[in-house]
Amino acid sequence: MAEKKVLITGDRPTGKLHIGHYVGSLKNRVQMQNSGEYDPYIMIADKQAFTDNARDPEKVHRSVLEVALDYLAVGIDPQKSTIFIQTAVPELSELTEYFLNLVSIARLQRNPTVKTEIQQKGFGESIPAGFFIYPVSQAADIALFKGEVVPVGDDQEPMIEQTRELVRTFNRYYGADLLVEPTGVFPPKGQGRIPGLDGNAKMSKSLNNAIYMSDDEDTLWAKVKTMYTDPEHIRVTDPGHVEGNMVFTYLDIFDPDEDRVAELKAQYRAGGLGDMKIKKYLFEVLNAQLMPMRERRARYAQDPAAVMQMLADGSAKARQKAQATMQELRAAMGINYW
Ligand code: ATP
Ligand code: MG
Repeated sequence: MAEKKVLITGDRPTGKLHIGHYVGSLKNRVQMQNSGEYDPYIMIADKQAFTDNARDPEKVHRSVLEVALDYLAVGIDPQKSTIFIQTAVPELSELTEYFLNLVSIARLQRNPTVKTEIQQKGFGESIPAGFFIYPVSQAADIALFKGEVVPVGDDQEPMIEQTRELVRTFNRYYGADLLVEPTGVFPPKGQGRIPGLDGNAKMSKSLNNAIYMSDDEDTLWAKVKTMYTDPEHIRVTDPGHVEGNMVFTYLDIFDPDEDRVAELKAQYRAGGLGDMKIKKYLFEVLNAQLMPMRERRARYAQDPAAVMQMLADGSAKARQKAQATMQELRAAMGINYW
């Protein structure tokens, strides 16, 4: 049997996971996990969460359990995937430091995702240094596990590229084939960056514009009801725009019945289809997909201690693997003195 490929990815515990995460990354992960072709490592990136939440440790702490529950809810299976907490593997910080010597500040400044996030977060001139270098820490996360495939959303493309560069430089300086160049696995076109309810370019935990996988029916309806549609579509009889209209954007992504969506679009464009009606329809589509996740989540949420134990076991296993690789890297760098 061919050796299983190491899959690595993760999420920041900065809140519950949303439907953007689901189509952007979780869906691919679950499929890949169940294919049996991979050895998946799924990381709750609490250290990275601190890079822009240093003042709010309570939020990070609380979100660890929430993210773990979201994982279990979508079908990440601890029997098949190693789920672990980033800070439980301090070797990741060690490799980050060595990686930092292999990249210039000018190179880091060119990262388009970090640029956008700096603007969104309103850091101005006061960018936390840890935030600025987080792509390097992410590269260490991937590289230390010798991750070969990384299922992520589109905003992570520059991070994968940065990782590949760092791996190449590290191998050039300290030994060929020490680390592995990873490949990003991105969702189908149009699903790699789900826009927010407000029409903002990205649904994000930190931007308050998300539908969470754990939202109950009432919350889901309240959110769908306020979704950005077409400001010029005032009377039901008015012709409406479907481009930039979040209800149709979401239907394109979530409704498997493409013919039905095409029909609704034609009707909306011609006039005669009201916003409430299409919103109700979108609600039904989303609710049907979220219901089984909600139920599974509620079941696991009854025993948080068991979930934390699962994370402890996963973290111990992940640390062992990371320690072994770090040992190998230290030897290659000539810093294994005893
Ligand atoms: P934060 O605002 O705290 O950064 P986030 O919503 O961006 O939170 P992350 O934990 O940073 O979430 O990202 C986790 C994974 O989810 C990444 O692979 C990312 O590409 C993917 N992802 C996040 N938001 C979206 C989105 N709106 N559409 C598709 N994929 C997404
Ligand atoms: Mg993010």
